[in-house]
Amino acid sequence: MKKAIAASVFDRTGLRRLLHGIGRWRGLVVLNYHRIGQAAGAPYDHGLWSASEEAFSAQMRFLRRHTDLIEPVDLAQLRDRPRGRYAMVTFDDGYRDNYEAALPILRHEGVRATFFVATGFIDRPSLPWWDEIAWMVRTSRKPHLDLRPWLEAQVAIDEPGRERAVRTLLRAYKALPDDRLADYLDAVGAATGSGRAGPGHADRFWMTWDMLRGMRDAGMTIGGHTVSHPVLANMSTARQREEILQCGRRLAEELGRPMDCFSYPVGNPAAFDERTREVLAEAGVRWAFSYYGGCRRFDDWDPYDIRRVAVETETTGPWFRSIMTLPSVFA
Ligand SMILES: [Zn+2]
Repeated sequence: MKKAIAASVFDRTGLRRLLHGIGRWRGLVVLNYHRIGQAAGAPYDHGLWSASEEAFSAQMRFLRRHTDLIEPVDLAQLRDRPRGRYAMVTFDDGYRDNYEAALPILRHEGVRATFFVATGFIDRPSLPWWDEIAWMVRTSRKPHLDLRPWLEAQVAIDEPGRERAVRTLLRAYKALPDDRLADYLDAVGAATGSGRAGPGHADRFWMTWDMLRGMRDAGMTIGGHTVSHPVLANMSTARQREEILQCGRRLAEELGRPMDCFSYPVGNPAAFDERTREVLAEAGVRWAFSYYGGCRRFDDWDPYDIRRVAVETETTGPWFRSIMTLPSVFA
């Protein structure tokens, strides 16, 4: 939030225009989105809504005017042109609003984006763990949860603590080893009284393969994001291989193209490791995107750790413009 306030001041003072005019920064800023639309009233993870349709349109127009928008296929040449100011638009997970809301805007603005999808959600639609946990909390009638031994302290889940409770439960999930996850979800379902969300919840949740072929034919890039969206570093090497290689196989079968780009689920530095990099190389992936801040310069280029900046609903006009004007501070 401090960044948001600083961005607002920065934007208003006119320094922004000055810096923009002279194009001070050089490198690549990759923006990452999840969902486009309005979270209000939805029983799922509100943190996943990145922008309204109006805000997204304005952001795409801004990028077109002020940056060179590129696609993953352009990355191979970038190091030979280190003086450019490049931006890339990416989406994670494969939500259906990417097709219904984002694609028409991207086509209208002439922007080519990259969509990283978890193939298991496309093949067998179900709620992902973060939306299921949010759903359990948001549909619970209880004021607080006792989740011992998973969490030491009780968690208040009635308003106004509900959003914070969702974050707390998601953080606990991300720290668990692979073989405890199902038990944890069962425990949250029991403690909230909501139970587990059945497959019917995921109707119209994800894109279909036909939609993804439509995306591809409209010039969008489709990349891999594993099968079931695990935190890869928490898994055995064998399970990491299954998640990455099977994702690549499904993309190739359905879209007729090899998986040459990939984004790490969760994407912070603890979410992937040296073993992940080895499996990506084996799978033929050329570029892998993380999900923590920053502008990537070409003198410290790492094709398996291309940083991305989160765009969230709080990323309002001034903040967005500041990220794109002074990424070393705001991205
Ligand atoms: Zn994801």
